[in-house]
Amino acid sequence: MINESKKIWNALLGEIQNKVSTVAFDIWFSRLEPLTVSFNKLVLIAPLKDTKSTLEHEYRDTFLWAIGQINTNITDVILILPEDKSAYLDSVQKESEPVSVSADDNRNAFPFDPKFTFDNFVVGSSNQIAYAAAKAVAGNPGEHFNPLFIYGGVGLGKTHMMHAIGNEILKNNPKSKILYVTTEQFVNEFIDSILNNKNNEQNRRFREHYRSVDVLMMDDVQFIANKTTSQEELFHTFNNLYQSKKQIVLSSDRHPKELTFLEDRLQSRFQCGLTCDITPPDLETRIAILQQKALEKKFNVSNHVLYFIAEKIDSNIRELEGALSKVIFYCSLMGKEADSLELVKQALKDDIDVSNHILSIDTIVDAVCDYYSISKKDIIGKGRTKQVALARQIAVYLIFDMLALPLATIGNYFGGKDHTTIMYAKNKIIEMEKEEPVIAAQLKDIRNLINKK
Ligand code: ADP
Ligand code: MG
Repeated sequence: MINESKKIWNALLGEIQNKVSTVAFDIWFSRLEPLTVSFNKLVLIAPLKDTKSTLEHEYRDTFLWAIGQINTNITDVILILPEDKSAYLDSVQKESEPVSVSADDNRNAFPFDPKFTFDNFVVGSSNQIAYAAAKAVAGNPGEHFNPLFIYGGVGLGKTHMMHAIGNEILKNNPKSKILYVTTEQFVNEFIDSILNNKNNEQNRRFREHYRSVDVLMMDDVQFIANKTTSQEELFHTFNNLYQSKKQIVLSSDRHPKELTFLEDRLQSRFQCGLTCDITPPDLETRIAILQQKALEKKFNVSNHVLYFIAEKIDSNIRELEGALSKVIFYCSLMGKEADSLELVKQALKDDIDVSNHILSIDTIVDAVCDYYSISKKDIIGKGRTKQVALARQIAVYLIFDMLALPLATIGNYFGGKDHTTIMYAKNKIIEMEKEEPVIAAQLKDIRNLINKK
């Protein structure tokens, strides 16, 4: 086992080295140690908590990609900390003994990522229905929506939500038998059970294992594409659990109707409960997510930096989080606070087009500051001189006018002003533009300045 894990790890390292930058490779990957292979997963020891969490959150796709490049039956990697090594090895030992699924099964010993909970899942219009459904399922598994089918693009929070359901059910009822698997894992275990099927024993254990749970969660069911026998097995597993009112939660990158490679009967089973989607988050939600992640990382990041990142990355939350980690990492290396856009642009220069001309809040505020020769700190902060107050109101009006952002978002940007203050500022400048030619001329100049940026 040990040699096998070393061999696989060396092969993976070779692929990863070609994929990531030298700095990232040295910092994150070079100090990982292979421990063992368990249930088609390569177990690696990460030297530090930070390394573990960065790798899990930002480099998961890199690992999966590298696994796809090499020819083994490994489907995933698991990272553990040095202090958890012996507990892990003990639990794996237990797992290999022929026991049926029970609450103290190894799957429940390391089941859900404690970092993925409902508490730290930011709710916005893009995910509120899925969130409410997931909460309902977690509160009363098997009672409301069965199956719960969550679909949406990559990095939008499906796996986070499934872990949150698992964490919540276990919190309410630690004895619950919950099985969370990726669909690849299901397929691989099923194939294993056929290949090693001595006296039908292995196959029987596989079935028993999957059919004796209270809750089955299968992530990324689109991976069952064209795997006919696995689909058949899943169909029977599904029926078995469904008939005994056991909760099933499924995730996919698309609506069940679009899983065209799926047998019709399975496709219709998937749709017989509640199907809800998660769409890309709007600007508000992206900012709130960044605030939440910065809080979790215990690093102070200025609001205008968060706005900048949220404006630049608008589709994938995993990338959004990756950009934030990069900024934090870069700023801590430099021993600086994450409050300057210059530093942020430097940190993210490989990831986003920092020179593009997409209009942003910052572009507008910078232009207003330049025009009136005032500092950004004053305009965003509490500066109360007449000049600063007027410049701030003008910036508010231009942001509202040019970006059509909600008042609350604008208020947030200016240090948490409430929406009535923002509304007042905007209305005042609208009046002034009509009544005072000097202000109208200044607004015209500033708009020109913005358009040239
Ligand atoms: P998916 O499974 O849909 O590809 P994940 O669940 O892996 O996406 O989410 C990617 C990252 O984005 C995770 O780190 C997750 O915590 C984070 N994330 C996604 N949605 C939210 C949210 N609404 N609030 C907080 N974090 C989120
Ligand atoms: Mg996922």
